[in-house]
Amino acid sequence: GGTLYIVATPIGNLDDMSPRAAAILSRVAVIAAEDTRHSGRLLQHLGISKPMMALHEHNERDKAGQVLEKLAAGQDVALISDAGTPLISDPGFVLVREARARGYRVSPVPGACALISALSAAGLPTDRFLFEGFLPARQGARKTALERLARESATLVFYESPHRIVDTVRDIEQVMGAERELVLARELTKTFETFYAGHAAGVRENIEADPHGSRGEFVVMVHGASAEELSASSAEVDRVLVLLLAELP
Ligand code: SAM
Repeated sequence: GGTLYIVATPIGNLDDMSPRAAAILSRVAVIAAEDTRHSGRLLQHLGISKPMMALHEHNERDKAGQVLEKLAAGQDVALISDAGTPLISDPGFVLVREARARGYRVSPVPGACALISALSAAGLPTDRFLFEGFLPARQGARKTALERLARESATLVFYESPHRIVDTVRDIEQVMGAERELVLARELTKTFETFYAGHAAGVRENIEADPHGSRGEFVVMVHGASAEELSASSAEVDRVLVLLLAELP
């Protein structure tokens, strides 16, 4: 059977395309892309012309079958997404799982990934981190998700869209406290790359004040709950328990 290559593409700066990634794309029989028009521009920039097929979240189950047929016929296939590493908040999981289940070789061609790039330069602890993808779009569900994470001690990492960034930072400030340390990485590898770092309240004020603050793409990183925060919240639980116990007959 053929090999399925999982190929990372740039998250902004086209020079981040590795020579090996370009070589693989020019060698495979077909490229499965999230958006063929978008990826067509990258291929044109690289001087590669290849048959493409669209594989996005709405048709992944059907299209995975077509890719598996190519692999069965001994053809190599590359999977790319619009930007960064496929399967990281991007399509491809169904395909990779099926390809592996059927015994085909699946091989990564690593490159840009917004979450790893952001963490590597943020100055937050990286020994343990929890990537949560996108938070829920609706505020109620978003706050519930943040409450579930408020006592997590690992660094938290989220992807967020520009039109929700201010609301999300506000919710983090409300749920995890104005003092919680926060870093936003905006437009990584692009001309207007910016890091906003500080306490939640200060970061929120900064992006609200910056006329370009809520434009572009963001990675949101939150310092994990500190030992003091955890003991403060367990002291609060103790206090409530004592009050409740006092009410018992
Ligand atoms: N698979 C991609 C990766 O490897 O990073 C992520 C795809 S996800 C659909 C898109 C999200 O990634 C954006 O909403 C943003 O949160 C983040 N992102 C992508 N490119 C970025 C960049 N240049 N700067 C900051 N965040 C970026």
